[in-house]
Amino acid sequence: MGTADGGVIGATKIVNNGPDNRRFNLVLLSEGYQQVQLTQFSADAHAFVENLRATVPFNGSMNAINVHRIDVRSTDSGADDPVAAGGTGATARTYFDATFGNGGLRRALVVNNSLVIQTANSLVPAWSMLMVLVNSTIYGGTGGHVAVFSVAPSANDIGLHEMGHTAFHLADEYEYYQGCGIDTANNHHPASEPSEPNVTVNNNRNTIKWGNLIAPTTAVPTMRNPNCANCDSRPSSAPAGTVGAFEGAHYYHCGAYRPEYNCKMRALGQPFCTVCSNVIRLELTRFAGP
Ligand SMILES: [Zn+2]
Ligand SMILES: [Zn+2]
Repeated sequence: MGTADGGVIGATKIVNNGPDNRRFNLVLLSEGYQQVQLTQFSADAHAFVENLRATVPFNGSMNAINVHRIDVRSTDSGADDPVAAGGTGATARTYFDATFGNGGLRRALVVNNSLVIQTANSLVPAWSMLMVLVNSTIYGGTGGHVAVFSVAPSANDIGLHEMGHTAFHLADEYEYYQGCGIDTANNHHPASEPSEPNVTVNNNRNTIKWGNLIAPTTAVPTMRNPNCANCDSRPSSAPAGTVGAFEGAHYYHCGAYRPEYNCKMRALGQPFCTVCSNVIRLELTRFAGP
């Protein structure tokens, strides 16, 4: 498994908004595509870019972004899917060794990150963010320095969420670690303030990080979790898009707040909240010059 199971074909700049040394360079790499499937990879990469282009706040910031595609062929199509993590037991000879089931969680899809980085370094050395598209219809993905996601429907939202972490230093806004009703050590967030701009332990409207975005008529805290032993599953008490302080964030049921009831950093399929959108927009302005 590995470099003997395929080969690197080359890089293509598919969105060109200027010189790489002055833009945010998103690099999409193929994994688990056979040579004859690379036209499909080209289409899948294009679809991801169209999704990015349609997502607030990237829709207004695309002039800051270049996108590169790195075509890599694999001997087999797909990814390993170990039985131990609830998979089918399928194995696939692929260049970056993609496998589902990392840590026993089937949807945790990982690759050989160092080989991905080495490949990008040699072809697009100015890369800002690496994403590996895995040619499998099984839902999965993971983040970190290298974002990985399958081509299953909606899995490319994993890529957008992971961009929030890796490129824009946003925190997870959800209030569980392993899962609601599973965690036993996530009732109360530690007292220390998280460094990320979209979660806080502070519920004082005068000093909260995003206080300038909270309307005087919005209560702060906006929602408190009545049962710190579990996630708060109630619907929002405020209209969608209200910025306030919603308890339950950063893996804890209580003692940590998020800016809006929902956000892509909390749940896939949701838009980025106003605070997260502003952070992304501001960061991208650094890359939007001549
Ligand atoms: Zn996350
Ligand atoms: Zn957010």
